[in-house]
Amino acid sequence: MIRSEVNRSELSPMMLQYMDIKDKYVDTLLFYRIGDFYELFFEDSEIASRELELTLTGKNAGLKERVPMCGVPHHSAKSYIEKLIEKGYKVAVVEQVEDPKTAKGMVKREVVEVVTRGTMVDLEFLNDKDFNYIASVEDLQYTYLITYIDLSTGEVNSCYINHEEDSLINELLSLNVKEVVIKNDFPLELLNVLKNNYAINISIEDNYLEDEYKHIYEDIEDERIIYGIKHLLYYLHVVQLKDLSHLSHVNIVKKDNYLEMDVHTIRNLELIETLRLKERKYSLIWLLDKTKTAMGARMLKYFLLNPLKDIKEINQRYDYIDSLNKNFMLRDELMKDLYEVYDLERLCGKVSCGSLNARDVLQIKNSLSVLPDITRIIDELGYKLKLNDHSELYKLLEEAIYEEPPITVKEGYLIKDGYNKELDELKEIRKGGKNFISSIEESLKQETGISNLKVGYNKVFGYYIEVTKGQIANIPDNLNWERRQTLTGAERFISPELKEKEALILNAEEKIIELEYNLFTEIRNRIKEEIFKLKETARVLAELDVLASLSIVSEEQHLVRPTLTDKRIIDIKEGSHPVVEVVSNNQYIKNDIYMDEDINTLLITGPNMSGKSTYMRQLAITVIMAQMGSFVPATSATLPIFDKIFTRIGASDDLVSGESTFMVEMIEAKNALVGATDKSLVLFDELGRGTATFDGMSLARAILEYISEKVKCKTLFSTHYHELTDLDKRIPSIKNVHVEAREEDGNVVFLHKIMDGAVDKSYGIHVAKLAGLPDEVLQNASAILNVYEDNSKKRKNETHIEQIAFDLDHKEKSELKEFIDTIDPLNTTPIEAINLLYKIKEINKKDK
Ligand code: ADP
Repeated sequence: MIRSEVNRSELSPMMLQYMDIKDKYVDTLLFYRIGDFYELFFEDSEIASRELELTLTGKNAGLKERVPMCGVPHHSAKSYIEKLIEKGYKVAVVEQVEDPKTAKGMVKREVVEVVTRGTMVDLEFLNDKDFNYIASVEDLQYTYLITYIDLSTGEVNSCYINHEEDSLINELLSLNVKEVVIKNDFPLELLNVLKNNYAINISIEDNYLEDEYKHIYEDIEDERIIYGIKHLLYYLHVVQLKDLSHLSHVNIVKKDNYLEMDVHTIRNLELIETLRLKERKYSLIWLLDKTKTAMGARMLKYFLLNPLKDIKEINQRYDYIDSLNKNFMLRDELMKDLYEVYDLERLCGKVSCGSLNARDVLQIKNSLSVLPDITRIIDELGYKLKLNDHSELYKLLEEAIYEEPPITVKEGYLIKDGYNKELDELKEIRKGGKNFISSIEESLKQETGISNLKVGYNKVFGYYIEVTKGQIANIPDNLNWERRQTLTGAERFISPELKEKEALILNAEEKIIELEYNLFTEIRNRIKEEIFKLKETARVLAELDVLASLSIVSEEQHLVRPTLTDKRIIDIKEGSHPVVEVVSNNQYIKNDIYMDEDINTLLITGPNMSGKSTYMRQLAITVIMAQMGSFVPATSATLPIFDKIFTRIGASDDLVSGESTFMVEMIEAKNALVGATDKSLVLFDELGRGTATFDGMSLARAILEYISEKVKCKTLFSTHYHELTDLDKRIPSIKNVHVEAREEDGNVVFLHKIMDGAVDKSYGIHVAKLAGLPDEVLQNASAILNVYEDNSKKRKNETHIEQIAFDLDHKEKSELKEFIDTIDPLNTTPIEAINLLYKIKEINKKDK
């Protein structure tokens, strides 16, 4: 049964109410509270029953057929909701907002919470090492504006990007955005790419939030940025009903301040996850992350994906690491302190957005407890960083919050003795109740002479006097006991005195819970007042954590402080690829990388598997590490500051879909040729191999010439086309290097050593042998290779190989060739032959 086709005039009042609410949340699964269950109806129920393996039933709702329905018990709804969110659905929770006992007519129901991937704030659900962004996209025709918010920490960002679909997708993927809010006129094709190819949640919203939460964009003059923020705020506040008071002032991201890398580069260099398994393990961040806090881990990721371009700022980070390396005792103390720090940033998010419980408050307190010591450490280290003083808040939390509170805040046991006088008095009464039981039991025993009489309490019947059946006759009549409960061997009674006391004690319990809750709410509000200061503190702690982590790594991996230069010189001595070095079972062969000011391109030849792409990645990773402020894997390193890195390595990633591998390769090459400047770094790994040999070689050569002579960026260019290695003679900014390999007893041995000059042997068949191809194939391949090599030698004698490469294709198709093919010498007279010769000369002239 389809919801939109139902005749609403026939529906029961409750189902009509459901329909009204559902109309506003069409793309969201509605968890509709009925009694102790959340029910889902119509298409929602079909999705939920399939995804959550629930039984699909039906409900009478006035129609001929029953409306499809499934449901989950309200107390276990959370785990079901999380499962649906993980699968990419959005969920709205509809509660009864009136007491059914007092409601007149239908109980009023409202959406009280909307949960989506982009707006989760639950710490258990979030990946603590990653940001959780929701973004809005404004298409300003000549540029896109992205506003992105991490609700869990309150961070708000805004940035302009090129008006190209690729750039937009690239940015959303690099930021790992979980949900995008767009307007109705957003191109459908692009919307589908985001949704289907990259599993990004899409929400459509055309409205803007006026006048609320102005603190986020006060002082911002750019109206477009303000509109971008208002657009996203409307969705978060009005549609998702979120409290946004913890959101910070917008940070306008100037991409120009950072080393630019696209998502291909981030993936190819395995900065965040490995290419094949998509795992953090064995990625660069895995190696660099020795942080103690989740905030530190997230900031490290930010540093890694946003390397700096300002020499002063980068050197500042080096100085900090240097001083931690030298003062390793202080570093150890710092790490120990940081170990006590919880995710303050996300706890701040929880203050206004989620439900901060007493355990969370204790985590805040614990985190604050180490601040004085950390302040001392950064003073001793001479850091310019400053931590806020939260001593008053800490004192308050220390005095107020009970050390082992329950998860819920409505059961009491949150507040310590001595914090509030009224609470202490009520607790006395509660305690008094217990003493009272034993004293009243004693006096009743004496009064009645029943020695096994007991006074007790249970939740259902309250206080009682228990007398065994055999003693009942001995109860004096004048005591006015009332019978409360009958057991097999005994009867339970209540006396007027006990009743009175019971009221007092039970009242105290209720009052305690209420008062504790109120006191706790006051404390929560007190934290809320300090939220922005706490967030500043969190950032400084995160930065310290990152610096300490980089310092530890620099020591463990024997990294060196780079020297940054404004000359265009790359001079790395004994460099390595830090992850391959750690992970590989074999000894890593260190290599120098030297590119003088006037060398733009290293043309790298060498057999497959010799280490060409590792060498290229090694340079890019060294550059990124250097510019993020980390030491680098080498014995010494002099580097210029790069503005962008482009890579065309390994498997192609097709962002927009539907393109062939070769097309993607060419698009990426184009991006580099168009986007790179003389301050960029470009890595081209075997460019052109995706097409026919001469095609590929021609393209590779043309690109190589263009990039070396026109763009003049620093380029590492690996190739199998040995024909290209002659180019250095004509273009002095190209230098040949090769990776050494040696043949021993018919087998190839990779030395992984980079040497000057080019090689002219590919060892492809040797590699195939290593891979275990059948002998017959290998032998056949060797024989074919011999023929090719002989032919090639012959041709070389006649004309330069380079000429062949560029002319052969052309000649084969030439008019001259086609004409000569038509000649039949055996049937040609001498006169005709003369004419043919004239004709040949003529065509040849034309062909030239
Ligand atoms: P190519 O790009 O030439 O095909 P790769 O760079 O993919 O070769 O490297 C092939 C293998 O050699 C990889 O498994 C890598 O671990 C190893 N390798 C590469 N460079 C080195 C090195 N300098 N020292 C030790 N092993 C290396």
